[in-house]
Amino acid sequence: MTATNKTADVTFENLLRIFTIPEGPDSTLTQIESELSHNLNLFLGEHIVAEEKPLVEIEKDFSSAHVPEQPQFVSEHTEHLLNTLVAHSVHTSAPSFVGHMTSALPYFLMPLSKIMIALNQNLVKIETSKAFTPLERQVLGMIHHLIYGEDETFYQRWMHSAVHSLGAFCSGGTIANITALWVARNNALKATPDFGGVEKEGLFKALKYYGYEGLAIVVSERGHYSLKKAADVLGIGQDGLVSVATDEYNRIKPADLDKTLCELKAKRILPFAVVGVAGTTETGNIDPLNAMAAICRQHSCHFHVDAAWGGATLMSQQHRYLLNGIEQADSVTIDAHKQLYIPMGAGMVLFKDPSAMQSIEHHAQYILRQGSKDLGSHTLEGSRSGMAMLVYSSLHIISRAGYGMLIDQSIAKAHFFAKLIKATDDFELVSEPELCLLTYRFVPPFALHALEHANREQKIELNNALNELTKFIQKHQRETGRSFVSRTQLTPTRWDHLATIVFRVVLANPLTTETILQGILQEQREIARLAPQLMTNIENIAYSIVPVPAPKVTQE
Ligand SMILES: *Cc1c(COP(=O)(O)O)cnc(C)c1O
Repeated sequence: MTATNKTADVTFENLLRIFTIPEGPDSTLTQIESELSHNLNLFLGEHIVAEEKPLVEIEKDFSSAHVPEQPQFVSEHTEHLLNTLVAHSVHTSAPSFVGHMTSALPYFLMPLSKIMIALNQNLVKIETSKAFTPLERQVLGMIHHLIYGEDETFYQRWMHSAVHSLGAFCSGGTIANITALWVARNNALKATPDFGGVEKEGLFKALKYYGYEGLAIVVSERGHYSLKKAADVLGIGQDGLVSVATDEYNRIKPADLDKTLCELKAKRILPFAVVGVAGTTETGNIDPLNAMAAICRQHSCHFHVDAAWGGATLMSQQHRYLLNGIEQADSVTIDAHKQLYIPMGAGMVLFKDPSAMQSIEHHAQYILRQGSKDLGSHTLEGSRSGMAMLVYSSLHIISRAGYGMLIDQSIAKAHFFAKLIKATDDFELVSEPELCLLTYRFVPPFALHALEHANREQKIELNNALNELTKFIQKHQRETGRSFVSRTQLTPTRWDHLATIVFRVVLANPLTTETILQGILQEQREIARLAPQLMTNIENIAYSIVPVPAPKVTQE
């Protein structure tokens, strides 16, 4: 409610005002808007409290199940939000927040997103989006060109074609992956003169008609969990997502992929899609895409590349070669809300063949009519916002060269951090950065020495103790709120594939400095000292393995 009286009242006049006239210039909301546009980081730094409040405490602020009976003034409500919600939000854009793929945003997206929300276009159909539809098709065209580099006539011919599409814009990588596999499944089980196609007759009849015992999607063991969801919703079942072993660089082994495809086919299971990962979520590694493309051609299966995270690397002249072979993919997922620095809710899937998406085309009477240019006829989602506008603007404002520079500096920073870790004697780099992602852990020198001399049983025991320490350090560091790295579990070749808990660092924020990275290591050392019992445990195990200890180095 707007402030007309001292107390907020439910009157129709007041209700009309909330659709028209905003509050006065001295209202809390106006003040916040101005702070937000003048110094984004200052605003976030001031309003998000550093100390972590336990989740159960926060839940108390959000526990009523009643829709409020009494209206609230906008200013009053804004104060409430600042204290309960904003204060305990996660400062994802802090330069020392290097644990996840969610990071800082360019300032211009705040005011631009207000235009987007004010226009409230619905991209499902032309009648509610007009100029936004061609804009979105152009954005898809630009990203398609970035991947496939087709010539000018190709884009002039297909970009705005009513019955073709270069891809789909969606809320994120999950929906993008599902869309790609949906298209692949329907193309694999398509209609014939005496079969209506899987989209009409369903999976059971399709399998019977084509004579298969089942379907499979094949990906490396580092595939993203969204593929499991895709296998589930597409009726293939989670067991239908078949994983292939990776090498010590977390990349799929092509020979094993080929073998898996042959084995499936021998069991009359159709591997209708193979997924290559370009930037694994845990380690940022890239599968051998050229080799995978060749294998897919041999087995006539759809080759999808999940480049949700790594796809933006194509912007960099220096590093785009890392994704060589991606241009042979039948479809590619790219998240704009990752390394294109767009707010959450911006994913894309692109198809090499502009008619591939016809296999999922849907029509309805009042919208999505046959021959219309409605984007909704080729999307899994229905009503959709104009997020493509923010991608369009960022592509213009930052430009290919600017994005290239952002990618280059992120990767350079990851290499710097890797070198820094390797130069210490108490941290172990577990995965080398290929993109701007790396993993490492704290291992005191005597423990490393013992690990190298341990038999398998001893290795397991010591590794478990180190895992406990890694967990403790990561949790403690997050709770103190000064910096944040995430953690995951890997099975490094160096340690006999034992389950190893590691710190995971994603260096996408351009404001993260080398000094901050040095500080993170120092902080982790200090936190390790706060766990004397864990450290003593590691010492005892280590010295039982190597009775004459290596000279103990102190890190003061
Ligand atoms: C982030 C990510 C996804 C999922 O994307 P969402 O936008 O979170 O739905 C899928 N695959 C990879 C490799 C990713 O990094």
